Amino acid sequence: MEGSAIRLRDLRKSFGETDAVAGVDLDIGDGEFFSMLGPSGSGKTTVLRMIAGFETPTSGRIELAGQEVTGLAPFERDVHTVFQDYALFPHMTVEQNVAYPLKVRKVPKAERLVRARKALTEVRLEGFGKRRPAQLSGGQRQRVALARALVGRPRVLLLDEPLGALDLKLREQMQVELKALQREVGITFVFVTHDQEEALTMSDRIAVFNQGRIEQVGAPAEIYERPATAFVASFVGTSNLLEGESAQRVVGTPGIYSIRPEKIRVLKESAEPDEPEHTTAVGTVAEVVYLGDATRFLVDLDAGGRLTALQQNLETSAEDVAAYRGTRVRLQWNRRHTVPVPDHR
Ligand code: ATP
Repeated sequence: MEGSAIRLRDLRKSFGETDAVAGVDLDIGDGEFFSMLGPSGSGKTTVLRMIAGFETPTSGRIELAGQEVTGLAPFERDVHTVFQDYALFPHMTVEQNVAYPLKVRKVPKAERLVRARKALTEVRLEGFGKRRPAQLSGGQRQRVALARALVGRPRVLLLDEPLGALDLKLREQMQVELKALQREVGITFVFVTHDQEEALTMSDRIAVFNQGRIEQVGAPAEIYERPATAFVASFVGTSNLLEGESAQRVVGTPGIYSIRPEKIRVLKESAEPDEPEHTTAVGTVAEVVYLGDATRFLVDLDAGGRLTALQQNLETSAEDVAAYRGTRVRLQWNRRHTVPVPDHR
């Protein structure tokens, strides 16, 4: 890829018997918001730490902006890492914290101040420069850490679950802000998370990790709508697979199929299958979960297997929902939402 900010080739890392990273090839473009998504222990942090230079690869190659950096120390690489615990200096003011990387690089004091204030403005913390970290909220501390990362204008910003310590509301707010900030500054962001919603919301592209390998790389919609493996289908979004006998009976051909819950409509069993392009399956409601804005139906199909359907609560109330348990229903979805999933097992 022309203009690759990061290029990884057959990257591996073993800790004793554990193959934490088992052969990763990846090209991340200049200015991309790229997320590494995967369950705990899938190797994404280790990849990030190798890009940063905190961890030495067992084998393989790392390039930053076309230069091989595999053996270089962290400070010799044009990257900056933001950690989940922020790692701010408690005895320094916010301004001093943000200016610190410039001080290390012997930037003159007056310029340091100007640039630190600019970075604080970028993260919407103007006026907070004289406080100490202890006098800030969690979200504000996170912004200070971001300002400190941005102040030296690195080519690449590495973020290791940076929103992990925030509560849900603040987390969602920071997701929007972080994305806007990235667009504004145009720096390549590599973001590690195990939260699929977070990855889908913010990223230009996502790499889904499983057991030290990448299972799929693609834009959020691609990953969600066209999962390349059964693992991706079940890790990103609610797992909703038809396979074996039930796949044969419902879809008409054997295989593994993913159907997203929000694509499935819940109808009365007696409802006539109306459109030829629709697939239908009848079954019994095993469980209903009222979610406020929507309801989740878990339906045991007569053909075998269980599907989850998500319906918006346009007219339904919580009482209506409870009455559904144990009733017979017909599920219906457009055939194009039946996505074949390659079987790698
Ligand atoms: P998490 O989301 O929990 O941070 P992760 O996907 O980032 O998980 P890694 O932290 O990269 O996963 O870990 C991958 C594997 O390597 C795990 O099995 C982990 O136990 C192991 N591992 C990581 N660091 C070390 C280490 N310094 N020594 C030994 N084993 C390690």
